[in-house]
Amino acid sequence: MKIIKKPYKLTARIKAIKKNGKTVGFVPTMGSLHEGHISLIKKARKENEIVVLSIFVNPTQFGPKEDYKKYPRNFSRDKAIAKKAGVDIVFAPSAENMYPEGVSTCVEETNLSKILEGAIRPGHFKGVTTVVLKLFNIVQPDISYFGQKDYQQAVIIKKMVKDLNLDTNIKVLPTVREKDSLALSSRNIYLNQEERKSATILCHSLTSAKKLIENGLTNTEEVKKKIRTMIKKEKISGIDYIEIRELETLQPVKKITGKVVILLAVRIGKVRLLDNMIIK
Ligand code: AMP
Repeated sequence: MKIIKKPYKLTARIKAIKKNGKTVGFVPTMGSLHEGHISLIKKARKENEIVVLSIFVNPTQFGPKEDYKKYPRNFSRDKAIAKKAGVDIVFAPSAENMYPEGVSTCVEETNLSKILEGAIRPGHFKGVTTVVLKLFNIVQPDISYFGQKDYQQAVIIKKMVKDLNLDTNIKVLPTVREKDSLALSSRNIYLNQEERKSATILCHSLTSAKKLIENGLTNTEEVKKKIRTMIKKEKISGIDYIEIRELETLQPVKKITGKVVILLAVRIGKVRLLDNMIIK
């Protein structure tokens, strides 16, 4: 497994790989790897000749009061996990390598980026789309792998690829969960024992809502109210949103007649937890 830190070095290597007609699968991450990331790497391993994993805690997607500095970083552990999962190249640039002094260009999706997470974290998705586009340009992937865990992010990236005619395929893979159903996340380590227990309410309330809908409840306000009641029974710091949206446009749905996605953002202790479920 090769570790590359400089963008131009990876570009040169990818050129040589492509010259040999090999396909490249790409998994972008911020490191602190867990089974969720590993599931993306394994899928990429199955479907491509070369697998590139990026590990980059992207400063531009963090707000001024967010946890950029404290975000968990553990490069030596990540390297071992990546190697075991079958990664060929780890791309681990520094912030200076990605954003040299004087950089003044960014890319922004201007519609879906403003709602839900984007409304609470202004500028977050601009940071995400800019870094992902830069990574796509450096890695030139045939297929890139993202997690459904960050549902809105995946929708926005697919939109960017479509809107800008990018020549790459996007695959979105299911959320990997702990045994008790909590969605894996690098930030779960911030939860204390009691908070960790309460955190399972996200997935449990989604599963209950799914059952209610399958049993004929179609009024979204009623479903949202039931989810809110369930979540509020736990010791939480606050609910940022409980939304039921159309799958691609992320527009609100009044009456559930087809596929929808339920999106949750809940604060437990100091941690913001996201989860979602597609209802078919
Ligand atoms: P992150 O390092 O948290 O930015 O995540 C990198 C990629 O892993 C993103 O595409 C995430 O959606 C995905 N991911 C994060 N958590 C999970 C999970 N529990 N299951 C599957 N994919 C995940």
